[in-house]
Amino acid sequence: MDILLSFYLFVLGAVLGSFFNVVALRVPLRESIVRPPSRCPACGARLKGRDLIPIASWLASRGTCRHCGTRVSPLYPLGEAATGLLFAWAYATYGWRPETLIGCLLVSLCVIVTVSDIRYMLIPNRVLLVFAPILAIARLWAPHGPIWSHLLGAVVGGGLLLLVALLSKGGMGLGDVKLFALLGGIIGLPQIPVALVAACLAGTIVGLLLLATGRVKRKQPIPFGPFLAFGALLAYGYGTQWIAAYVSILS
Ligand SMILES: [Zn+2]
Repeated sequence: MDILLSFYLFVLGAVLGSFFNVVALRVPLRESIVRPPSRCPACGARLKGRDLIPIASWLASRGTCRHCGTRVSPLYPLGEAATGLLFAWAYATYGWRPETLIGCLLVSLCVIVTVSDIRYMLIPNRVLLVFAPILAIARLWAPHGPIWSHLLGAVVGGGLLLLVALLSKGGMGLGDVKLFALLGGIIGLPQIPVALVAACLAGTIVGLLLLATGRVKRKQPIPFGPFLAFGALLAYGYGTQWIAAYVSILS
């Protein structure tokens, strides 16, 4: 693995991650993603070049606005760092191949829906509508397995979550169902149930931790999109090996 290329992908990811934060925070409010330029939500000061360096600006100002001192959410640098690290991870996992581009697109989708879902408890339709055709074309261009496994992945992913949504009577939104159908189409059939298991495990652990630390109350809904995204990325990177290991234990 080329260190320089990994570093380049990290920087590219962090810069794009900064844009993904804007997309994730503005699209649900039906605001433009290019205008107006970024401002401090508290004092309205326009952010300049030195305020817009991914991760570094937030660290340099110790997580506050340079003008009014209001706390800036750690969601911003976390989204940037996560995108950078996951771009580098996609390259480390798949090397210099078309699959890495699909991996980076998948990471991009996952970061945007995670930030939107944490902030607004919703997964924007418009983000899914932009990513779906791009990912479908990328998948046709560089299939991971047979095409039917991707089509079935979408059907099984969407179907499983639709079942959960119907059983939970509104506990899970249709945004989650659509997201998981799209994720299923990208990562394919044997992997998508693995993604759901990983998402449920992560959701349960984090939910219990939030409950134990008093960050959320009983019966308070927590967004499930971030866990679906997390599960899909894990299954995308390691699902094949996990399934092989599981089968070898059984046989
Ligand atoms: Zn300010």
